[in-house]
Amino acid sequence: MSLIVQKFGGSSVANAERVFNVARIVTETYDKGNDVIVVVSAQGDTTDELIEKAAEINPNPSKREMDMLLATGEQISIALLAMAIEKLGYPVVSLTGPQAGFLTDSSHSKARIRRIEKERMENELGKHNIVIVAGFQGMNRYGNITTLGRGGSDTSAVALAAAFHADLCQIYTDVDGIYTADPRIVPNAQKLEEITYDEMLELASLGANVLHNRSVEMAKKYNVNLEVVSSLEKKPGTKVKEVAKVEKMLIKGVARDNNIARISVVEVPDSPGVAFRLFAALAAKKIDVDNILQSIGREELKDISFTIAKDNLPEAVKVVESLKDSLNYKYYESTENISKVSIVGAGMKSNPGVAAKMFEALGDAGINIQMIFTSEIKITVLINKEESTRAVAAIHDAFMADLPH
Ligand code: ASP
Ligand code: MG
Repeated sequence: MSLIVQKFGGSSVANAERVFNVARIVTETYDKGNDVIVVVSAQGDTTDELIEKAAEINPNPSKREMDMLLATGEQISIALLAMAIEKLGYPVVSLTGPQAGFLTDSSHSKARIRRIEKERMENELGKHNIVIVAGFQGMNRYGNITTLGRGGSDTSAVALAAAFHADLCQIYTDVDGIYTADPRIVPNAQKLEEITYDEMLELASLGANVLHNRSVEMAKKYNVNLEVVSSLEKKPGTKVKEVAKVEKMLIKGVARDNNIARISVVEVPDSPGVAFRLFAALAAKKIDVDNILQSIGREELKDISFTIAKDNLPEAVKVVESLKDSLNYKYYESTENISKVSIVGAGMKSNPGVAAKMFEALGDAGINIQMIFTSEIKITVLINKEESTRAVAAIHDAFMADLPH
């Protein structure tokens, strides 16, 4: 007998028919003699609709109340799914994040899971109940409801898989796996059979939009056997693991992230402590800085540019403005007209010429590169947002022969 964690995203439980579809997948797994823990997200666009509702009442609500509101989306899903499973005649119980024992820190709207108190769930599993858990939520030590950040249900699922030493954690979604590029913009994108945690981590944080990046970090840390599968069609998905079979493949995929903004602080004195003061101030406001680029000093001045999630732009701008005197910079610029396009692949470590090939594809397409960042297994460029779809397609085409097919 195995323990399997299955997570279903919002589109997989969007309406009654889909809820029953999920109920069937879950009960089939249970029928095979497995213990099953199910994590669900809010139905369809519920979370976005709740955010809109809040804005009608108060454009600036406290994060505590926002979490209180957003957590209701998942509570609807768990109850409906449990009712569907009851109707099919199986023993089932639904639990909110707090009931399931999710203890988090107090960073409302982006809380981190501290630990999972397992007694309640162990009890339910001991009674052979199918256990349905609300994703995306937990409770801090003061008993307040917290949420884990948008897309956080993946992380709930992986955390449960790690805590209960599950044999498998399946992430069911409306795509059937991880592709070499977003199939909506690159029609000839190919599905990957396998991908490493590190590659997936880069793709997730680069906006491939399939898995929440914290969930992949956690899967890597606890070596969770992870799989992305379609809830709509029965076919093999993509396995995420430590080492993938086809390591020699040059690149695994091309990703785009349009959800970013850039700030450039121009003509800062080129002296020690400047970068520290800037990034410490941003960190104090819990603003995650993504890429950082500092120019070489000239005439004792330098520029520092960095990218952040678009949502954080207003707050980041405030921080930068508040440092005007202490950093003594000349001016700053900020823009949302920017997109991050990246190629990822463990195989590029040992293959020179990958960057040149990417830049050639962009050059041939007449797309200007504003900034370049590299790491061992990825190359990222910042370009104008309007050109990002074309950029992804051009790069994907250029590497087509090196991609799995
Ligand atoms: N419902 C939440 C969201 O839309 C969490 C999730 O879907 O994972 O972000
Ligand atoms: Mg969702």
